[in-house]
Amino acid sequence: MKALIKDNPTKGANFTDLTLPKIGENDLLVRVQAAAICGTDIHIYQWNEYAASRIKLPLLFGHEYAAEVVEVGRSVTNFKKGDRVAAETHVPCGHCYQCATGLQHICKDMKILGVHMDGAFAEYAVLPAVCAWKLDPSISYEIGATMEPFGIGVHAMSKTKPAGKKVIVFGCGPIGIYAQMVAKLSGAEYVIGVDVTKERLDLARKMGTDIVLNAKEVNVAEEVSKITKGFGTDIVVELTGNKAVLNDATKTLRRGGDIVLVGLFSGPVEWDLVNNVIYKEANVYGVTGRIMWDTWWTAQSMLLSGKMDVSPVITHRFNLQDYDKAFPLAESASTGKIVFKI
Ligand SMILES: [Zn+2]
Ligand SMILES: [Zn+2]
Repeated sequence: MKALIKDNPTKGANFTDLTLPKIGENDLLVRVQAAAICGTDIHIYQWNEYAASRIKLPLLFGHEYAAEVVEVGRSVTNFKKGDRVAAETHVPCGHCYQCATGLQHICKDMKILGVHMDGAFAEYAVLPAVCAWKLDPSISYEIGATMEPFGIGVHAMSKTKPAGKKVIVFGCGPIGIYAQMVAKLSGAEYVIGVDVTKERLDLARKMGTDIVLNAKEVNVAEEVSKITKGFGTDIVVELTGNKAVLNDATKTLRRGGDIVLVGLFSGPVEWDLVNNVIYKEANVYGVTGRIMWDTWWTAQSMLLSGKMDVSPVITHRFNLQDYDKAFPLAESASTGKIVFKI
C-alpha cells in the first residue's frame, strides 16, 4: 500500500510502499478515506525536539482520519466490514484507574495513534476497535477526519458555561476556530478570536466569530478592556502554547472567571499565579483530547443539529503524494485544516 512514513531523523517524510499491515484480534483493518494534518504531524515532519524525544523510527504517522472497515479482528463484535468510522487518537489500556472511571482519554498507560504506534497517512491502517467511532451516515469522511480536532474544541468549551458570557479564544487555528464556533452555538454574548495571521483571523470571522484581534497589531489586553468596558472576559481559552501569550491572556480574564488551557507549551512556564489565579479566584482547567465517548456524542450532535457548518474550516486538500506541498503550507500556520484525500 502507498504510505507516508517517517524513517529518517531529519526534516521531511518518505512516500513509499508498505506491505498491508496485519491486525490483532481486537483491531480493525480500515481503508483510509481522508486524513488531516495535525500540529503533532508538523512536529514529526520537522523532526524537532518534541518529535525526537517521543518517536521511534520508522513510523507511519497521521492520526486524524476517517475510514471504511475492511477487516474485523476475531474478538471484535461491535463493528463489521463496510462500517464507516472516525478514529479516536488516544488508545486506552482499559484497566487502569482512569480507564475504570470514565477517564480513558487520560489513561495512565495511554498510547497515541501515529505517535507511539503506526497511524494513517496510508491507504490502509490498523485501528484498535476501542478507538473506533461509528460515523453517522450524513457525516462525510472528510468531516469525519476532523472530528478529532473538533472534539478538542468541544471538550475545551464543555469545561465552562458559555451561554451569555464574554468568551475570548487565543489561537485561530482549526481547534481555536472550532472552540469559537462551539461558544457561539452555546449562546455566548460574544466571542473574541486572537491570532497573528490575517488568513486565520479572516477564517475565524467567516466562521462567525464576533470580534477578531491581531496580536501583532494591537495590545490585546487594552483592546479587550475597551470591548468589555473594563469588565474583562468571563472565559479565556488558551490554544497557542505560547509562553508570552499566557500572561496576556489571563490579564483579560475577570475575577472569578474560567481559564481553559489547551495549547502545549514547550517546557516550564513562568506564570504570575498570585495575580492571575489566586487573587482572581480564577478556575483553571487543563484539557487534552476528548472524553470517550461523551465528547464524541456531543460533537456529533452539534454537527447533526444543522446549526453549524464546519466544512469551510477545511481550507486545503491534497493527494498524499503531494505531501511536500501540504506540509510547508501547514508549517506556515496561516491555514485552516489541511486534508489528504486517500
Ligand atoms: Zn492531532
Ligand atoms: Zn488505562
